[in-house]
Amino acid sequence: MKTLQIDVGKCDYGRDCAHECEAACASKVFKCDDPSRAALRIRLLENGEGRAILCDQCGDCVIVCPADALSRNKQGVVLLNKKTCVACYTCVGFCEKHAFERNPEWLLPYKCIACGICVKACPKAALEIAEAPTPAPRII
Ligand code: SF4
Ligand code: SF4
Ligand code: SF4
Repeated sequence: MKTLQIDVGKCDYGRDCAHECEAACASKVFKCDDPSRAALRIRLLENGEGRAILCDQCGDCVIVCPADALSRNKQGVVLLNKKTCVACYTCVGFCEKHAFERNPEWLLPYKCIACGICVKACPKAALEIAEAPTPAPRII
C-alpha cells in the first residue's frame, strides 16, 4: 500500500509540508492559511525531540465505521466517502495515531490521502510516499 512516511531526523520543523497540505486540501473548505488544519502535524517537543502525527493507512478505522464510509482504494490508501459519512466520529476516537482531523467549521473528519503534495514541499527531503505491506486491521 502507499503511505506517507517521515524521517524526523531530517525535519527542520518549519512545517512547509503542513502549509502545503492545508493549501491543497483544507483551504478549499476553510478559505484560510492555517497549518494546524493540515492532515499531518509536525511538532517539536520541549525535550527537543520531533514528533509527526500522520496516518499510516493501517486500516483500523475502516472496520469501525458504522456507515461503511471508509475503504481502501487500489493503492491501499484509506479514503473517506463524504456522501455516506454520518459524522459520528467513531473513526476519530478509534485511531491510535490520532491521524484524523476535525474542525468545527467542517462537519466531516479528514485524514491523509497520501497525495504526496507535502513531499514536494519539504526542503529537507524528510517526507516520502513509500510502499509498505498492508497490515491486518486491529482486532476489536
Ligand atoms: S486514520 Fe488512523 S486508523 Fe485510519 S488508517 Fe489512518 S492511522 Fe489507521
Ligand atoms: S465519522 Fe464518518 S467515516 Fe468516521 S466512523 Fe463516522 S461515519 Fe465513518
Ligand atoms: S500526503 Fe497529501 S493529504 Fe497526506 S499529509 Fe501530505 S499533502 Fe496532506
